[in-house]
Amino acid sequence: MSGLALEGIAKRFGALTAVDDLSLTVPHGTFVCLLGPSGCGKTTLLRMIAGLESPSAGRIVLDGAEITDLPTHRRDFGMVFQSLALFPHLNVRDNIAYALRIRGVPKAEQEARVAELLDLVHLPDFGNRPVGKLSGGQKQRVAIARALAVSPRLFLLDEPLSALDAKLREAMQVELRQLQQKLGITTIVVTHDQREAMTMADLVVVMGEGRIRQAAAPVEIYRRPADAFVADFIGSTNLLDVAANGSGHALVDGIPLPGVALPAGLKRARLSIRPEDVRLTAPAEAPLTGRVTFLRDLGGTVETFVAVAGTTVIAVSTPRERPQVAAGDAIGIQLPPEACVVLPQ
Ligand code: ATP
Repeated sequence: MSGLALEGIAKRFGALTAVDDLSLTVPHGTFVCLLGPSGCGKTTLLRMIAGLESPSAGRIVLDGAEITDLPTHRRDFGMVFQSLALFPHLNVRDNIAYALRIRGVPKAEQEARVAELLDLVHLPDFGNRPVGKLSGGQKQRVAIARALAVSPRLFLLDEPLSALDAKLREAMQVELRQLQQKLGITTIVVTHDQREAMTMADLVVVMGEGRIRQAAAPVEIYRRPADAFVADFIGSTNLLDVAANGSGHALVDGIPLPGVALPAGLKRARLSIRPEDVRLTAPAEAPLTGRVTFLRDLGGTVETFVAVAGTTVIAVSTPRERPQVAAGDAIGIQLPPEACVVLPQ
């Protein structure tokens, strides 16, 4: 297969298992985001792929050839880390040309390649600038150009945008994705920001405690999370306890939810429903009723917090469909069955 295969990869640091028997196939040209809470093993996994850490077990295979023990400098990978690690005493051109120079690429070829890369990262006239005189976003682009100089077989980035402010980070996410699509390069990015992963990735790999909890396309993960951990980690969701009645239909707080069933044999489960899918109605029009506890008007959207069934359900509406209620009012809640995902507890 053309692409990257991780086969039963594990990494142990003494008694601690940072990555646990993890297998994943990444077809050539895929943009992968490794996503998960702090300490779940994302960086350790990326470092093993890079050859900076050796696995305690398992194999890494690239385009059909095993590379598990191949030294980093022979893997031909491009890497960008959070710290960027640009050479402060070199200008932009020399930073980007660095890998070409140590490989003995002829000078004219180096210059042509650097010009091409500067265009690619939208910094065509910045070659002579000292890197110390660049903004955060410009430094980021130089680090990316430097990593891409030798046309790497894999492009690996560890939290590359986390030092940027929110607006610039969002812009750079789009830029990075467009760049990757243009080059068709297999790219793996570590992030703990789910919006970042949703913006850039073909394949989101959600990790928890050294294992893959779910690996799928972003929308699939959002719409069909595998479990409550994934549902809660990707976007915001409402999680409600549900029980099965005698015929397997879902009950919330003893009240039947039309059209929602639990998998055969399951007595209890959790129901995940996204805030934008919750419908608010007059109390008499819905099976479930609750009480409004808080309204958050964010300008573009309005969030209504409703105390119901021993928890708080949040509903998101556009300002135009904003419910005419105030804190303390009773309100009806409809959970459309097609938007409900029943998850094991
Ligand atoms: P973060 O988002 O905080 O960077 P992460 O998901 O990237 O977290 P890792 O850095 O891969 O997590 O760490 C996974 C676990 O392995 C953590 O418990 C960490 O403390 C531990 N760990 C990582 N590197 C080492 C090391 N060299 N020696 C001992 N333990 C380590």
